[in-house]
Amino acid sequence: MPIFEFKCKKCGEKFEKIQLKSAPDPCCPLCGAASDRLISSFGFVGSADGKSSAKIGHSCGSCSTHNCGSCSH
Ligand SMILES: [Zn+2]
Repeated sequence: MPIFEFKCKKCGEKFEKIQLKSAPDPCCPLCGAASDRLISSFGFVGSADGKSSAKIGHSCGSCSTHNCGSCSH
């Protein structure tokens, strides 16, 4: 099972928890408030900000495609 990192919305405590991806976010171990799931290293590749996927494209410097699937490099 993957390890997720959470940050408490109330006190800012960061903690890790092993759980199913579909499980609800756990409560803070310190104050019991709701938490936000942080982006972990497990799910970093292809994250929503697009930066990590852009890096993958750097392996091919002379074309503008992201995955080099359609060029001869
Ligand atoms: Zn808390």
